[in-house]
Amino acid sequence: MEDWREGQEILVMDGRIKVPYSWSAGAVGTRYLESLRDDMKFLGTKCPACGTVYHVPRMHCPDCFEECAEWVELGAQGLLTTYTVARRHHAALTPAELPFGYGIIKLDGASTGFLHLLGEFDEGGLEAGMAVEAVFAEERTGSIMDVRYFRQKKGAV
Ligand SMILES: [Zn+2]
Repeated sequence: MEDWREGQEILVMDGRIKVPYSWSAGAVGTRYLESLRDDMKFLGTKCPACGTVYHVPRMHCPDCFEECAEWVELGAQGLLTTYTVARRHHAALTPAELPFGYGIIKLDGASTGFLHLLGEFDEGGLEAGMAVEAVFAEERTGSIMDVRYFRQKKGAV
């Protein structure tokens, strides 16, 4: 009997696996997210040994292994340290309009930067070192997306 598989081209099917999951934000993450949701304020934590102010806040300094028990209120503005612009959608990214940007923002008062979306910019309008400010969502739920995006700070050049 002839092997029906001989010479057969195997087809490839594209698919997408959706894996919903949840995890605890922990004590530090919860306080941080509550502050964004309820007060539209960014909080960081400060290492008592090296003085690094972490944003997003950390419970322990990864360099000193000290507990970062001191909370620091940070500005809702800072500097865009680096960025990229996306011109096509990706399954892991949800912004509605293309192009969109995302970058590392170092908030005023923080020693470290964090990744977030950038909005309200023209092509070629982003620049490392530019002043940016947070735009908060009107309805906040206790998520990092309570900050819709960062935009060039009004009045900044
Ligand atoms: Zn430290």
